[in-house]
Amino acid sequence: MHYRNYGGTGYQVSALGLGCMRLPRNVNEEKGEAPVNREKAFELIRYAADNGITYVDTAFGYHGTESEAVLGEALDGGRREKVKIATKQPFGEMKTQGHIRRNLENTLKKLRSGYIDMYLIHNIQKHTWADIKKRNIIEEFEKFRSEGLIRGIGFSYHGQYPAFKEVLDFYDWDMCQIQQNFMDLEREATEEAIFQAGKKGCALVIMEPLRGGSLASPPAPVKAIYDAHPVQHAPVEWAFRHLLNYPQVSCILSGMTTLDQLKQNIEIFSKADAVPGCMTGEDKEMLARVKAKYDSIVMIPCTRCEYCTPCPQGVGIPEVFSLYNEGMMFGAFDQPRRGYMWTTRFHHEASRCVACGACEKKCPQRIEIIKNLHIAHEALKGWLE
Ligand code: SF4
Ligand code: SF4
Repeated sequence: MHYRNYGGTGYQVSALGLGCMRLPRNVNEEKGEAPVNREKAFELIRYAADNGITYVDTAFGYHGTESEAVLGEALDGGRREKVKIATKQPFGEMKTQGHIRRNLENTLKKLRSGYIDMYLIHNIQKHTWADIKKRNIIEEFEKFRSEGLIRGIGFSYHGQYPAFKEVLDFYDWDMCQIQQNFMDLEREATEEAIFQAGKKGCALVIMEPLRGGSLASPPAPVKAIYDAHPVQHAPVEWAFRHLLNYPQVSCILSGMTTLDQLKQNIEIFSKADAVPGCMTGEDKEMLARVKAKYDSIVMIPCTRCEYCTPCPQGVGIPEVFSLYNEGMMFGAFDQPRRGYMWTTRFHHEASRCVACGACEKKCPQRIEIIKNLHIAHEALKGWLE
């Protein structure tokens, strides 16, 4: 396993981090439940901690708020000090300063730890950022840090680059966490976010390196590009190598569900050349062709221009189409369904559409929005958290 500097904190972490949002589950569709399979999760977490992984990431809300407790129990009895724990508090739970403190205390109890190595504001968004500043949340986190309850302050972010840059520049964060993979170089926070975090000396943690696992099983036209390349690696390894190539990246999180995935990833991250500089010019060109091929498979030609928004019913039209296209593009709906579950929680789901037709008149691509929202909803509904 290779270890990398974690921003300006003075310590290093394993280049591979264990994400605790895809722990093994017992899915019971009839009952509408999917609790964590605790025995398998314990085995996974303990194997990671005993085999070189020194960074684990969880959050208040993962697995219906079960993830932190599972992690705490797995590490209890000797493994806590082997790893750095990052966890997150969501803005929606930060109603008052009292709530923020009680949530932290609750998390510490669940983690069975007296402190958290890195405490994040979870999923800062363009529309929540002003309120986050107004409510003095960062100041509250600073108090926790001075009391020794947390050791670093960070944020996670899913969204476009301009808002990311604004958040990054606002404060002297210890770390930030963004979605990146070779498909998202110009999407989400973009590659520029990697460079800016590095320039600031802020520890940078990457999530969704495999787009929820979807980059692991390419469709035939994409596979043909990998197969024709003179250097052979599995698609999973190419996705990791793309990120390992950036010296600015401190840690790459992977939400591994099985012991086999974990072992395979440890092997990849332990290779002698799994370090910055591991991608040649030819490798980068090959991944650019892979990306272009994936992009050409998009089904609903939505450009995310947002001319159709806001929908009076709150439907997140471009977001819904993006999730659907992602599922179609990768031939895997697991990750998009999980994303849609969050869309639903924020009341932006496609089923809220009342077919008023206002959006279709504004769409420059002339997309049949109403019909396609129905198709997307049928494909995306049903995730059990
Ligand atoms: S047709 Fe549906 S999605 Fe479009 S604006 Fe009306 S309610 Fe919203
Ligand atoms: S107007 Fe059309 S292309 Fe633009 S975001 Fe809406 S559906 Fe997509």
